[in-house]
Amino acid sequence: MEIIVKIENVSKSYNKTPVIREMSLDIEKGERVVILGPSGCGKTTLLRMIAGFIHPDKGRLSINGKSVADNGKCIIEPESRQVGMVFQDLALWPHMTSYKNIEFGLKMKKISKAEIKKRTDTIFEKIQMTRFKNAYPGELSGGQQQRVALARALVTRPKILLMDEPLSSLDTDLRQVLMRGILRLQEELATTMIYVTHDREEAFSLATRVVVMEFGKIKKIGIVSEIKELLLEQQIDDKKVS
Ligand code: ADP
Repeated sequence: MEIIVKIENVSKSYNKTPVIREMSLDIEKGERVVILGPSGCGKTTLLRMIAGFIHPDKGRLSINGKSVADNGKCIIEPESRQVGMVFQDLALWPHMTSYKNIEFGLKMKKISKAEIKKRTDTIFEKIQMTRFKNAYPGELSGGQQQRVALARALVTRPKILLMDEPLSSLDTDLRQVLMRGILRLQEELATTMIYVTHDREEAFSLATRVVVMEFGKIKKIGIVSEIKELLLEQQIDDKKVS
């Protein structure tokens, strides 16, 4: 299998407090990796380093076989890393219609008008939002905004889709629906997905592989059944202690 993201001995501190500690991880093309761990364990920091918004103090990050950050230096800027990102707070532009929000990334890339229209129309059909093309984010429900944010990240056809707790503000039913939508789109587009959450059920529904993080380190990596087993054993141990 082809490795698309390589994390080698990466460390990151904020004000001398280590947040990521000598972490190493290989992610294969087309995988859905879920980073699971409690709040504050460093999940967002890891994702932001892959995106290129912040850089490791030590270690190396490579994407598609190319070093993008090495020992405190940024080598490839975020806009050239071919990653798309969806955040918890979505960050849709409130003054732009959903169509404009999605089209924006393509305009930045200087893609022809005809191609922009084709891609934007197609993605609106995929997220079943064609009726809401001209609506502003403030006129859409939480779930609809979520779909627009997802489409905005995917329309530029990123090689890697980074998602930071994108469903955590939504109720359970809607989360189920959107998880199915995310899975469908990811499979159709064969994008590699790295998804951060503290929610076990979300991790188990979405992942092909789960990375359990604790205090800036990887505690365990495995397929869903292995991680379920580990967490179950841990619960039994916790009960024995208490
Ligand atoms: P998670 O996503 O797992 O909740 P984060 O990566 O957001 O964890 O944060 C890890 C730790 O780093 C937390 O203790 C957080 O307070 C701290 N932290 C995150 N961003 C900054 C920052 N910009 N400056 C200082 N500390 C930060």
